[in-house]
Amino acid sequence: MDSQRLCSRQGCHRVAVATLTYVYADSTAVLGPLATLPEPHAYDFCAEHVERFTAPRGWEIVRLAIPEPVTTLDRDDVYALADALHQAEKRDADTVDRLSPRRTRERLGGDDAPPPAKPGLHLVPDEH
Ligand SMILES: [Zn+2]
Repeated sequence: MDSQRLCSRQGCHRVAVATLTYVYADSTAVLGPLATLPEPHAYDFCAEHVERFTAPRGWEIVRLAIPEPVTTLDRDDVYALADALHQAEKRDADTVDRLSPRRTRERLGGDDAPPPAKPGLHLVPDEH
């Protein structure tokens, strides 16, 4: 899953780093950190368009602290983490497969193998 969003400015394909929301009641444009979910009335801007953005006449711009754009190093870290998680999942899957009844029967010699001995059941006399 690639959750990276792109700048909403036409013809701009840079990665969005900020979300612009208009607060019509206050005539305020708020430029803040990228919204977690894409919102219908918000615009995602790349770093360059954040710099270039000017509010419509009579509007105020509120610029919230925007985190630095994601660097390549961070992206590698994400991949490394995903890879580690994938390896862990594979390991778990192997364990489950090894413990499955089918595999156990194969190890005992297939369908012809005698059923595993039942644990001894003893009637314990009630001495009271
Ligand atoms: Zn842009």
